[in-house]
Amino acid sequence: MKVVQNSAEIAKLSAEAKESGKSVGFVPTMGALHPGHISLVERARKENDVVICSIFVNPTQFNNSDDLEKYPRTFEKDSALLESALCDYVFYPDVEEMYPEGFKGGPQVNLDGLDEVMEGSFRPGHFDGVITIVNKFFEIVSPNKAYFGLKDYQQYLVIDRLAQQYHSDLEVIPCEIVREEGGLAMSSRNARLSSNHSKASRYLFSQLIKAREYLKRHGVKETERRIRENFKKRPEFNLEYFKIADSQSLRAPRNNRKNNLRAFVAAHIGGVRLIDNIEL
Ligand code: AMP
Repeated sequence: MKVVQNSAEIAKLSAEAKESGKSVGFVPTMGALHPGHISLVERARKENDVVICSIFVNPTQFNNSDDLEKYPRTFEKDSALLESALCDYVFYPDVEEMYPEGFKGGPQVNLDGLDEVMEGSFRPGHFDGVITIVNKFFEIVSPNKAYFGLKDYQQYLVIDRLAQQYHSDLEVIPCEIVREEGGLAMSSRNARLSSNHSKASRYLFSQLIKAREYLKRHGVKETERRIRENFKKRPEFNLEYFKIADSQSLRAPRNNRKNNLRAFVAAHIGGVRLIDNIEL
């Protein structure tokens, strides 16, 4: 496995692989890797001749400077994990390499309001930052396939639109959520939870499962209301949102429709912001 810090070099390596008839799979990450990330790398390994993984903590997608500062950085451990997962190249640029002209915006993507709800409304500018950096990566690496986790479901939909509109040869592959025992979705931020808060965080997933049960007997609005009420009984959580939405448009379903829905949650616990979602 080779670590590459220069974008011209990784672009050349990827282009040469493609010219010689090899397929290139790409997994963008912000590092602090865990089995959720590695599942993406393993899938890319199965489906491609060459696997490139990037590690870059992207400043433009953080709307909270404290969150950016505290984001775990564990490059040595990450590269050992990637090597075990048989990754070929780690692209590990610094901020200057990715933003030589400063923090200028990315392409205009028609998102049909996908960026106006949930993560979009609670993290202003977040998806602009995500689109900017992922578009840069797609331009540099130009992979055949790129792998994204459904843990960040809204991000997957946004990136899929970016690819449809600006990188039509690229296939965006959604990958299932990997969970801890007990259900908590794996996340780099989980490392910042105390062991008590880590145990308590199982509640997030349990409430998503509850929503599935409630929805069998109640409407969408009533299910949302009940889950929000449940969170009020758990003062260690500061619930940001709990929402049931159409799995493609992310809009609230009309007329009590119950097909093609997902439940989404974001909550703070012990100073850490966690998100999760499930198909209903
Ligand atoms: P991040 O490093 O948090 O930006 O995540 C990089 C990629 O890994 C994104 O596509 C995430 O959705 C994905 N990912 C993170 N956690 C998980 C998980 N628990 N299961 C599946 N994919 C994940």
